[in-house]
Amino acid sequence: MSAVMTAAVMNQTARLTLEKRPVPAAGAGDVLVKVAYVGVCGSDMALFENGYIGDSVVTAPMVLGHEASGVVVALGGGVTSLAVGDRVALEPGVPCGACDFCREGLYNLCPEVFFWASLPATEGALQEYVRHPAAWCHRLPDSVSLLEGALIEPLSVGFHAVRQAGPGVGDRALVLGAGCVGLLTTLTLRAAGVRDVMVADLMPNRLELAEGLGGHPLDADGLDRLDKEVAAAPSAAPRYVFETAGNAVTMDRAISLCRPGGTVSFVGYTKSGRADLNVNLLIDKELTVRTVFRYRGCYPPAIAAVASGAIPADRVVSNVFPFDQAQAAIEHAIRAKANVTKCVIAVDPEWEIQA
Ligand SMILES: [Zn+2]
Ligand SMILES: [Zn+2]
Repeated sequence: MSAVMTAAVMNQTARLTLEKRPVPAAGAGDVLVKVAYVGVCGSDMALFENGYIGDSVVTAPMVLGHEASGVVVALGGGVTSLAVGDRVALEPGVPCGACDFCREGLYNLCPEVFFWASLPATEGALQEYVRHPAAWCHRLPDSVSLLEGALIEPLSVGFHAVRQAGPGVGDRALVLGAGCVGLLTTLTLRAAGVRDVMVADLMPNRLELAEGLGGHPLDADGLDRLDKEVAAAPSAAPRYVFETAGNAVTMDRAISLCRPGGTVSFVGYTKSGRADLNVNLLIDKELTVRTVFRYRGCYPPAIAAVASGAIPADRVVSNVFPFDQAQAAIEHAIRAKANVTKCVIAVDPEWEIQA
């Protein structure tokens, strides 16, 4: 194996440069993974476009990407859970394992977590090789492709959202926003036996895709009609509403559209971090509010659901770019929002053929 690899490094805002870096060595407990696919996430787009997220500013060269799959090419000391040649989905957050939150099983809330390409961490997956703890590399069964492997990360967000809310078989749900996470939430709800999953978005092709995935599409007019239906017959309103658009207006709408006694889940971040919400209505309806910060314990069941065919996660992929066009991939994801549900960068798709 060559000791030098290529990494897509952001040295300045909105500019990725392919640079040579030494291939990392796998330390004790780690594996070295040849990266196959990396999904472009909203957080990558924000860091690329603005050079900051919220109060965190990029001040050092950064490698973007946290939605990755690959193939194990070397084992560090003591690793017995994986073998060279295993295809894996990499869980990008490595918690400390020792704090109160970790010990309570709330590892996504660990204050010491290292999470790829999330400031202050400037290390991400958009490079040919990554070193990662074996414990956070999840083996993919043969029926899950490496492309699907890169989608386990955003799927886990949808999984966590659905598990946190806890809808049952035959329930009625509304998903606000048909971007990647909205669509993967839709697929998870359908797989969980939710009877009627309404999906609202303003962009027609996203709605078309949502319909193809078993959702009931609602455009702006459809949402207005639902408003009237809910006002006339509150018990017919969706019992579970998932806001995935990260929009203050739809967050407020989630409250007004939810069935009294139901559950509203806030999944998306707003740009400003603020939203003006009708809290009196929230109280009057006795709604339960759930929130989702990344996920915990979702990779294994999400992989199993994809393996079984219950969740065709790769259907949300709209574009696959080669590694040498990583810059174009992120620019496209930002500029062509109406047509993009998920851009994926094929760092080394050869492995798909060999697998
Ligand atoms: Zn992501
Ligand atoms: Zn911890």
